Amino acid sequence: MGKQYLDLSIAPADTAFGLMAEFDADPHPSKAKERLRETTHEYLGIAGSPTFINLAKDIVFGSVASRLQDNSTSIQPVSGTGANHLAATFLACHLRPSHVFIPAPTWINHKSIWEMAGVSVAEYSYYSSVTKEVDIVGMLNALDCAEPNDVVILQACAHNPTGVDLSKYQWMQVADLDRRKKLFVVFDSAYQGFATGDVDGDAWAVRQFTEDVLAFETHPGLCVAQSFSKNFGLYSERVGALHLIVPRHLSVQGARGELMAIVRAEYSNPPRFGASIVETILLDQDLRAQWEADLDTMSSRIRRMRCELRQRLEKETQQDWAYVETQIGMFSYTGLTCEQVSRLRNEFHVYLLPSGRLSLCGLNDGNVKYVAYAIGEVMK
Ligand code: PMP
Repeated sequence: MGKQYLDLSIAPADTAFGLMAEFDADPHPSKAKERLRETTHEYLGIAGSPTFINLAKDIVFGSVASRLQDNSTSIQPVSGTGANHLAATFLACHLRPSHVFIPAPTWINHKSIWEMAGVSVAEYSYYSSVTKEVDIVGMLNALDCAEPNDVVILQACAHNPTGVDLSKYQWMQVADLDRRKKLFVVFDSAYQGFATGDVDGDAWAVRQFTEDVLAFETHPGLCVAQSFSKNFGLYSERVGALHLIVPRHLSVQGARGELMAIVRAEYSNPPRFGASIVETILLDQDLRAQWEADLDTMSSRIRRMRCELRQRLEKETQQDWAYVETQIGMFSYTGLTCEQVSRLRNEFHVYLLPSGRLSLCGLNDGNVKYVAYAIGEVMK
């Protein structure tokens, strides 16, 4: 049969949560105190809050969301990490890829999550330390070796840890290859709004790839693992969503049932509180406008810090640090060695990851001068 999704039949509803879902859907007038119930600590259903899920879907897919009614399913998992994990567990079982391709470098958890799901992990070159840009040739060459139904992890924007994103043209090159080779893309979207300050602009690639899935009958499908940790500052509340666009030959309800079976066995249902904060903000016009303005403030501040750090580093080291300014999002891949990073920590109390990744969010007008000075000292 070759490698294909297993046929997915519709699983019966979970006994306890199925009953709760039926209760929720029951319109009988004696069912009172509905509003009060919403403010308590009742369990959410296995798939999470339907209101939150629809809002999350709109945020990531924008106007494309209305065309995903019949061929997609969304779940509220345990934040972005949980969304990546749920995707990996589901796809390992039902898509059975021979490999998952992750960027080199990438968020450290990608490798662990997929290894734990039992899928062989292969890396594609993502970043060139020489040009300090995306290694698009290396990336396309590596993905060209993938087999149909292999999974490719793409970070939607503000790539962690390099701070370097693909250009629109490069995204289209990857989309072409993805379509030609029938690869299943999992978009990891953890920083929407952080790259440019524009929620829609940061979702450009996801929406473009989604259009492709809708246009081509033989497309294997696509997932988006969405996190609200950064763009709502809800880190500890574990707010996220997993959206699965199901290939045409498969039953959406069957896929949804499988996802819910995994959730039920792993953690039963997701946390309510953070999701209700997101709902409150996105459903209120003024709060939503304020959230969008806050994202703009945050991303502008990061850009200002990049400019300031670049200028100060160029003064301290007499070298070109233009890439600190052109990189995107929270992180900068400084190119500092592991030894320089440990000197920064031990002698100057400045903390970077051993890879040389610096978090721009930790910089402010009060410390940027000192950080540039410290970097200059360890580079002498
Ligand atoms: N993906 C990427 C690329 C990340 O950087 C992070 C957080 N560091 C996540 C996913 C997961 O975030 P969370 O589980 O906090 O939503």
